[in-house]
Formats: sequence, structure tokens, C-alpha cells
Amino acid sequence: MTTYNLLLLPGDGIGVETIAEVERIIDFLNKAGRVKFATDTGLVGGAAYDVHGVAISDADMDKAHKADAVIFGAVGGPKWDGVPYAVRPEAGLLRLRKDLGLFANLRPAICYPALADASSLKRELVEGLDIMIVRELTGGVYFGEPKEIVTLENGEKRAVDTQIYTTSEIERIAKVAFDLARKRGNKVHSAEKRNVMRTGVLWNEVVTAVHKSYAPDVQLEHILADNCAMQLVRNPKQFDVIVTDNLFGDVLSDEAAMATGSLGMLPSASLGAADPKTGKRKALYEPVHGSAPDIAGKGLANPIATIASFGMALRYSFDMGAEADLLDKAIAGVLAQGLRTGDIMQPGMTKVGTAEMGSAILAELQKLAA
Ligand code: NAD
Repeated sequence: MTTYNLLLLPGDGIGVETIAEVERIIDFLNKAGRVKFATDTGLVGGAAYDVHGVAISDADMDKAHKADAVIFGAVGGPKWDGVPYAVRPEAGLLRLRKDLGLFANLRPAICYPALADASSLKRELVEGLDIMIVRELTGGVYFGEPKEIVTLENGEKRAVDTQIYTTSEIERIAKVAFDLARKRGNKVHSAEKRNVMRTGVLWNEVVTAVHKSYAPDVQLEHILADNCAMQLVRNPKQFDVIVTDNLFGDVLSDEAAMATGSLGMLPSASLGAADPKTGKRKALYEPVHGSAPDIAGKGLANPIATIASFGMALRYSFDMGAEADLLDKAIAGVLAQGLRTGDIMQPGMTKVGTAEMGSAILAELQKLAA
């Protein structure tokens, strides 16, 4: 039987509570016996700082490099607000992304029918919505140099951020998007601002070239990023996969996410380059939400975002699409039964805590798998 190595990094706050629910799903899959997940755990964020004085230790980074996938909870909290910038909790996540070379961020926006009324958009616009936003994560304006605030001779200040993209950076993210589209609705929208940005011109040219040579079977449309933002609220179901740069991806993925209701529902994956020998990619799976200090330790957190992130690991790291589908169905089933954590509570529904929601999803999964 194949054994996969998982590194669990619960981190801080509700990360600890939601990862505990994922561990129960892992136990179930191990007992089901198709593959074996060997799990190890490490410290990240404030939890790592308290023990090691850094946001992730070299030993835990080493474990992350060796793991087949990292399952991450959340980091941060008021306890660590005053720690030096270089070792702040978020630095642990940034180091993981950088050292593992995680350049592709996948953010699905899926609207479960039972939650369609919780969206800020009309039910008919979002019911059945299933979009994947592929955001370039390690380049662009968040990292380009120069990046500075300088004082000019006249005393005024000038701030500069620099947007940089190279051909190879665009090629590799475009390929991820086309590969994903083939497994979904076979359509990619590439969003940039070629009308006003040179990086947009290059982005457009390179995506067009990759499409021609690598994925002529997939439908490609180019869209200006501002129009994409508008279309996401006007008619979101027209999209299947959207590929875009770091900055536009940051904004568009948050916008698309709101169609689905709550932060507690949003999973994500970050993938690195495929190993030329094995084809395997380094990967980290994490909920979009943070450590939610306001509800941490109270058993109130919605575990669905973290459980669905593990579902993405099954699909994208372990080729276990059937199991991932069952897990998604189990989540949809529990929501259809009317169970809700506080963040997605609606009138007439049954309010439950983290462990109860986790138990209900596990029970539904067991039923579906039987
Ligand atoms: P947050 O996502 O932690 O919380 C925002 C709001 O959403 C809070 O009211 C919280 O209770 C609620 N919420 C979030 N996830 C929930 C869940 N699963 N179930 C129920 N309610 C949920 O964002 P914040 O409050 O801006 O940040 C808190 C801390 O988390 C900060 O230290 C921040 O730096 C950190 N943070 C970490 C990450 C990460 O680890 N990737 C991401 C964002 C923020």
C-alpha cells in the first residue's frame, strides 16, 4: 500500500481546533485502507516562536521539505503583536511558501446550495457556483525591487512598488491553470491589465503562446482584470478557471470568495513546480481564514475550510479525486441537514460547535463511503 507523509502544522488559535478535525478524517481514511497517511506535526507561528524564538524552526522546515504535503492551520494572535518583525507569526507561512517554491495559489469559490441564501449575491447567480482562481504567488508587485519609501529633496515622500514578471514565471502558472481546467470545465480566463501595464502585455503574450503550444484543447479568453472584477458579481457562473497575477489574484479571489458566504468555508492550496523525475509538486493546504483570536479555544470555529483544504490535498497531491468528491458531498450533506457553526448560522438552523461539525461530516463521510 502507498504511504504518504503529511506534515500537520496547526499553528495558533483556531488552527489547532480545526486541524484536530482533519486528523479524525485522516484516521478514517487510514482505517479504510486504500492508502496510508503517516502524519507528523510541527510548530509554526506564535507557537513556534514561544518554543524556538522563530516563526518556524529549521527542523520543521526540513520536515516540510520531506513531506508529500503540508496541512496548515493558521498563525497569529494578539499575544505576538509585539514580537520582532522578522520572527512575527506570519513569517513562518512566508518562509514555507518561499522555501518550498509555492508559486501557484489555488482558491476555489464553491457555493453549496444550502448556503446560497447567505451570499451577498442573489441565489440564482451563485447556486452551484464552482470557480477556481489560480493566483501567481511568489512574483509581481509584492516582491519586485525597488520597493521603498524615500524622502525627496523638497521634503515630500515618494513610495515605490515594482511589478515584475518574467516569461518563465508566467509560463509555469499558465500551465497550472490549463492543467486544472482540463479536469474541470475546460475553460481559462486570463486576467491582466494589458491596456495600461507592460507586465499585462507580456502576461497576455505568454499565456497566448502557452495556450497554443501546450493546451490548444482548452478554451482561453483574455479579460481585463477590472472587467473580471465586475463580471464576478454580475455573472460569476461564466467562469471556470481564472489565472492572474499576485496582486489581481489577491483581490479577485477575495471577491469571488464572498459569493460563498463565510471565511470559515474557504479552502486553498499552494503548489510548487513539478519534480521532473516524479511529477510530484511541493504543496501546502490551508484555510483562507486566520487564527480568529476572538473565538479561539472556545470550540466555536467552523472546521469546514480546513477540512475542505485537506480535500484539496486528496485531489491535487494524492490523486484521490473519488475520496475528495465524497468529502465534498459529506460537507454539502451536513449543511443540507441544517447544521451550522456560528459564522454561517441562519434562522431555523441548528447551531453546532467545531467538534460537532467535525463529527457530523465524518459520520456523513462514513455513510457515503459504505
Ligand atoms: P481571521 O480570519 O482570523 O478572523 C476574521 C473574523 O472571521 C473573526 O471574527 C473570526 O472569528 C471569523 N472567523 C475566521 N475564521 C473562522 C472560522 N473558521 N469559523 C468561524 N469564524 C471564523 O482574521 P483576523 O481577525 O484579521 O486575524 C486574526 C489573526 O490571524 C491575526 O494575527 C492575523 O495576522 C492572522 N491571520 C493569519 C492568516 C493565516 O494564518 N494564513 C490569515 C489571516 C490572518
